[in-house]
Amino acid sequence: MCGIVAYVGRKIAQPLLIEGLKRLEYRGYDSAGVAVIDKDNKLHIRRAVGRISVLENSVLQTPLPPSQVGMAHTRWATHGAPTEVNAHPHTDDGGRIALVHNGIIENYVALKQFLTEKGHTFTSQTDTEVLAMLIGDLYTDIKAANHLPPGASLLQRAVQAALHEVEGTYGIAVICKDEPDTLVVARKGSPLIIGVGQNEYVVASDASAIVEHTTQVIYLNDNEMAVLKPDSFRTMTIDDINVSPVIQQLENKLEEYELGDYEHYMLKEIFEQPTAVRNCLRGRVDQREGRIVFGGLANHTRELVKAKRYILTGQGTAWHAGLVGDYLMEDNAKVVTECTYASEFRYRNPIVEEDTVLVAISQSGETADTLAALREAKEKGAMALGVVNVVGSTIARETDGGIYLHAGPEIGVASTKAFTCQCVVLTLLSLFLGRRRLMSQTQCHEMIDGLCAIPDQMERVLKQSDHIKEIAGKFCDRENWLFLGRGYHYPIALEGALKLKEISYIHAEGMPAAEMKHGPIALINEGMPVVFIATKGVQYDKVISNIEEVRARGGHIIAVATEGDTQIKRYSNHVIYVPDAIEGLQPLLSVVPLQLLAYHAAVARGCNVDKPRNLAKSVTVE
Ligand code: GLU
Repeated sequence: MCGIVAYVGRKIAQPLLIEGLKRLEYRGYDSAGVAVIDKDNKLHIRRAVGRISVLENSVLQTPLPPSQVGMAHTRWATHGAPTEVNAHPHTDDGGRIALVHNGIIENYVALKQFLTEKGHTFTSQTDTEVLAMLIGDLYTDIKAANHLPPGASLLQRAVQAALHEVEGTYGIAVICKDEPDTLVVARKGSPLIIGVGQNEYVVASDASAIVEHTTQVIYLNDNEMAVLKPDSFRTMTIDDINVSPVIQQLENKLEEYELGDYEHYMLKEIFEQPTAVRNCLRGRVDQREGRIVFGGLANHTRELVKAKRYILTGQGTAWHAGLVGDYLMEDNAKVVTECTYASEFRYRNPIVEEDTVLVAISQSGETADTLAALREAKEKGAMALGVVNVVGSTIARETDGGIYLHAGPEIGVASTKAFTCQCVVLTLLSLFLGRRRLMSQTQCHEMIDGLCAIPDQMERVLKQSDHIKEIAGKFCDRENWLFLGRGYHYPIALEGALKLKEISYIHAEGMPAAEMKHGPIALINEGMPVVFIATKGVQYDKVISNIEEVRARGGHIIAVATEGDTQIKRYSNHVIYVPDAIEGLQPLLSVVPLQLLAYHAAVARGCNVDKPRNLAKSVTVE
């Protein structure tokens, strides 16, 4: 789930590994560790609970010996508490093998019992230690059998043998003190990228830890592994079938991963939204002809246009973007669409008829639930599209076609610019289909013009950051908030509440404004902050009535309203204005103040905005 960095080459590994971990810090973790092999072939491991700075201080005070091979890990505990003993790297009980692991070994109980019966002793509660022990155990067996062809890596064989016994998901890096120039890595269900340098390899679970060393990378596929030495490498399946490596160029530059002048990544990314949306639109809209162009879908246009049903799926913020997409697809493309949680779709034995297209939405492209839903839908014959930000990610590779967000790296755990770009991509998809179905050129033109105006309009909203900060400051000590909206703004209400929960730990609920009176109205008491998205649109009057209902019960109204709407002031305690836009495009503007509201509330409460407790950026476990 969290981070792996590993190195083999000619440089001293330790500083490079710690720097790499810092690049992965944003993904969320609870402990960290590092392992190297010194020139006398001794394995050295250091682990620490808490921030990477704790580990860094430890290796600064008592440095590990110089080494040209090593690996490091940030752990997001799944099995066993976040303690030093449970932190990675883990070793076998002979202290020969060291392993870092992202993911879950599902059959660890049976394997642990088997290994215990063989006389092995465990020190941690983790599933990962079981895999380290298994590799060590098989290493000894294979060595004793003496079957190895000359020149072959025993470590490679032991890892392959162990992975055949394992059920679950993994991204792993393994080193062995008996093969001190070798790094073995493998993946199934957890991303791993190999950076290919001059006589060196930097492996990481995320490109951000590679980009400062090289932009040439190999993406490992599921069930693939690599054996890396400073001057050679081989990629193969875990069944030992050779795989010809495809070296690709990384898309993003180092600066894009840096904080610059901003206080937090989340704030930087909120402010990057106009640029992100411009990049997302670039090359895809033909404003003169009123047409949408998608390079990645060129071979599938007929099937997509003929499809009878679309299923949009994701989790968290991506699911909210899917809900916006659901409205857009039905409004613009006039095609039956549903938006469903990937985790629910995956296990409910869904009916997938012919001519169904599943659209998997995920910033990282690695979300385990979404990936599982995608595989289920494909198994049942659906065509699959990906709406993904990270180029080369698993979802991007497993779908039949896809539309990248081009939002640039999103480091803040709470998704912001990826959300708006997901909404933009789904708008484009709805127009791409709509224009080829029932939508007139004039209608499509209008939407495209509206979309192209969004980045400038977003800039106007961002200028109100200080005003929003004041409002956040007034209410940040209230422990319960409501977010309400209708139509296109129902998903935005959910997203506003989620943002606040994620980073400020305030309890917030979002729902359709009409739903409030069916129960949640009981929660409203004197001074409770209730955020209404009340922009001009077909349901404006109904929203005003809902505002009245809250006011009558003492709730404090924070309204997001359309510029020029002066009457809203009569009903609200605070107003944040957003520019007017076509209704289907309004979410792109109305979500921005809610992101800022959550951000400023969290900062006022002293929360660690970029690394909220318990959360990880890319959720690669189900
Ligand atoms: N399941 C492993 C553990 O709890 C790995 C967790 C991770 O991906 O960080 O130790």
